[in-house]
Amino acid sequence: MEASGFLVGPAVFNTDVAGYLGQAGSIPVRLRHHHIPARGDPLGVRTWLGEWPMFRQATGSDPLARGAAVESPRTKALGPRTDDADAVVKSVCPYCAVGCGQNVYVRDGRVTQIEGDPDSPISRGRLCPKGSASTSLVTSPTRVTTVRYRRPYGTEWEDLDLDTAVDMIADRVIDARRRGWQDTDDEGRVLRRTLGFSSLGGATLDNEENYLIKKLFMALGAIQVENQARI
Ligand code: SF4
Repeated sequence: MEASGFLVGPAVFNTDVAGYLGQAGSIPVRLRHHHIPARGDPLGVRTWLGEWPMFRQATGSDPLARGAAVESPRTKALGPRTDDADAVVKSVCPYCAVGCGQNVYVRDGRVTQIEGDPDSPISRGRLCPKGSASTSLVTSPTRVTTVRYRRPYGTEWEDLDLDTAVDMIADRVIDARRRGWQDTDDEGRVLRRTLGFSSLGGATLDNEENYLIKKLFMALGAIQVENQARI
């Protein structure tokens, strides 16, 4: 009986075989390769058969061929990229107000993988597709890592060094606070606030950054402190 193709479970096995030797379960098996005999297997037939996915599927504990039956030496040697991390840092997904927990895997000072944190009571190890792609948010070569500035009436963005940008922001905050300060209202009631500036945060701010922004702006007298993604 010639065997040229089998449909076994989810997979089709095409075989090009020369010598019919026997049957594994109800599946005909033919051999043509040389093999190294093993102890208790003088002809080496079982050793060779054991390397054949279809034989393992038919005789082993993986009848649907979704695991061990279809492992090659290469797939057997593969491991998750999280295995060789130097450290795992707990963090929070920066994208939306759900605040799913993340484990950030680090190797040689660089982020290698970000996965859901099973310890998080909010997400219990889950991340949505956006959160699952956080690694590329951090490691993308197109990520902007410099301060970008467009001058009033300017048409182009330019790079600023961080010290220059921080000085410019500080000057403007002081000036806006001074010009917009309200000590009392029209009826003499104490206000001690400024409407000269406000803060609008976004989902990419993490909890710690939001905490510090809120503290800073309230200390400066601002009352308009808002975030696009509030919990
Ligand atoms: S993983 Fe998805 S749902 Fe969770 S915080 Fe991130 S963006 Fe929001």
